[in-house]
Amino acid sequence: MLVTAVKTTDQGGHHGLSFLIVERGEGVRSSALEKLGWHASDTAEIQFEDAFVPEENLLGQENGGFYLIMANFQWERLLMALGAVGAMKVAFERTREFALQRQAFGKPIAHHQVIRHKLAEIAVTVEAGRDVTYAALRRYVAGEDAAREVTIAKLATQRSAFDVIDTCLQIHGGAGYMKEYGIERAARDARLGPIGGGTDEIMKEILGRSLGL
Ligand SMILES: Cc1cc2nc3c(=O)[nH]c(=O)nc-3n(C[C@H](O)[C@H](O)[C@H](O)COP(=O)(O)OP(=O)(O)OC[C@H]3O[C@@H](n4cnc5c(N)ncnc54)[C@H](O)[C@@H]3O)c2cc1C
Repeated sequence: MLVTAVKTTDQGGHHGLSFLIVERGEGVRSSALEKLGWHASDTAEIQFEDAFVPEENLLGQENGGFYLIMANFQWERLLMALGAVGAMKVAFERTREFALQRQAFGKPIAHHQVIRHKLAEIAVTVEAGRDVTYAALRRYVAGEDAAREVTIAKLATQRSAFDVIDTCLQIHGGAGYMKEYGIERAARDARLGPIGGGTDEIMKEILGRSLGL
């Protein structure tokens, strides 16, 4: 079963979209796409050809799909921010432990100032990302308009998560490149963040407009 946003009028832009549930079967073909990360979640190209959709498979209002998409975006973006904060925190904790154990030039690498500073910077990024994300979450849960805060939270966490995890990978040295440590997977998975759910560029456009720019 597929939930789809379908053009149901010939109006341009985002107008005339409806949500339809399409059953898999005749007229529906899909082929999985190979990708960098997120291997636990399939992404596919889906083709529809004369696929029959009964009237009761309309979700929400006819031609009202865009509003559903917009409403869903806030939660999706917030969820991505929360996920990025969690991913950064796990990567930081694992890397901190690794850096305290791994010895180079007669002492744990965590005791080399350059590594200690990198970990200190990561701690600041995680803390700041968590605070803006929780602020957005509080507004969202209170039922207030959280669009600006959610946009800020997504922008503050997605590229950061990738950068933080990449730095963690670097601190792991060659081990970080190995699947065994899980950091390479975390880095691959984090790369989707600045793209999915609205790219960082689009987030900046939305935020810019909300700032009257
Ligand atoms: C693994 C994966 C899973 C996904 N899952 C879903 C899903 O479940 N549901 C769903 O709806 N979508 C999903 N997407 C789609 C995703 O939301 C889009 O890929 C993303 O929004 C970017 O759109 P695009 O790929 O069409 O890029 P484009 O819109 O072609 O953008 C290409 C580049 O141009 C930039 N750009 C575009 N417009 C502007 C502008 N006005 N100003 C400045 N820069 C601009 C973009 O930021 C980007 O860097 C998924 C994508 C991936 C990779």
